Amino acid sequence: MPRQGFGLWKIPQDDTAGTVVEAVRAGYRHFDSAADYANEAQTGEGLARAIQGGLVTREDLWITSKLWNTFHAPEHVELACRKTLEDLQLEQLDLYLIHFPIALEFVPIETRYPPEWLHDPDAAEPVMKPAKVPLHETWAAMEALVDKGLVRHIGVCNYNTALVHDLMTYARIKPAMLQIEAHPYLTQEKLLRCAKGYGIDVTAFSPLGAQSYFELDMAREEESLLGAAPVMVAAQAHGKTPAQVLLKWGIQRGTAVIPKTTKPERMQENLDIDDFELSQVEMAAISALNQNRRFNDPGVFTEAAFNAFHPIYD
Ligand code: NAP
Repeated sequence: MPRQGFGLWKIPQDDTAGTVVEAVRAGYRHFDSAADYANEAQTGEGLARAIQGGLVTREDLWITSKLWNTFHAPEHVELACRKTLEDLQLEQLDLYLIHFPIALEFVPIETRYPPEWLHDPDAAEPVMKPAKVPLHETWAAMEALVDKGLVRHIGVCNYNTALVHDLMTYARIKPAMLQIEAHPYLTQEKLLRCAKGYGIDVTAFSPLGAQSYFELDMAREEESLLGAAPVMVAAQAHGKTPAQVLLKWGIQRGTAVIPKTTKPERMQENLDIDDFELSQVEMAAISALNQNRRFNDPGVFTEAAFNAFHPIYD
């Protein structure tokens, strides 16, 4: 998997196809999609345009997508995967991930897609409805997708160490990937070590930290990592931008990174990190910023936005 990917969360539908083509042109070959991002059809349009226009072949690309929470029941996993494949205009995914270790009641595709978190947003008092589906059953259905050739690799997102240990006790097909929030304010060293011990690769989402969460009111301006002293010092020393330093830090600690941007100049900036190396001292100073600050926390946002309280890390 290319270590630098392109994230697609929160890219408006109308901009997505063009952004994907632009990102391919900039040099991205790995795209991080999800049913829940509500732009998979437009992502598929962009990928098709890039392929038909001769910019890349399907074989040059690595496409990841994610199983949404409402499709955890074994009988719904293939349905969800096929919908994603159809939207992305692909015959096979390179990687399919369980998006959250949270099972929610099924919502038919014809009723609402993507279904998001609330069972019925039009109800008088909309609620999130957890479903009684054990994760091992969902995993077995994910394995069946590999057997059928619909996906090449499978993995998980937002699992903690206990869930990873548990998954390794029953996985017939080992998870290839663990995708987690990771940046200098949330370094997750134990989780990284745990995954490494099992030979599971790790992808860092929200590698720029708070930047993604300002627009959602889930982070405060002063929590930006772009102005953090050790990041700025390293940026100055190497003649790079703070964002490039954050991405390089992620790469040098062994994770893949999947930054999102809709701005062409930032696409280039976020890719252009091969010409410098952070020293051990710089790496340590940036890692020392850790404060276990999780911006994407179901234990917080389910209560704030979805009339529920559904912590998974505590
Ligand atoms: P991110 O990529 O760390 O940050 C994106 C934010 O930073 C956007 O607001 C973007 O604004 C800005 N930005 C991008 N490049 C910049 C630069 N060079 N300088 C300054 N600002 C810059 O955050 P993310 O989108 O949350 O995470 C990346 C991807 O991870 C997502 O798109 C998604 O694919 C995946 N993800 C997965 C999960 C999961 O549960 N598995 C959760 C969250 C995210 P502009 O667009 O205006 O440039």
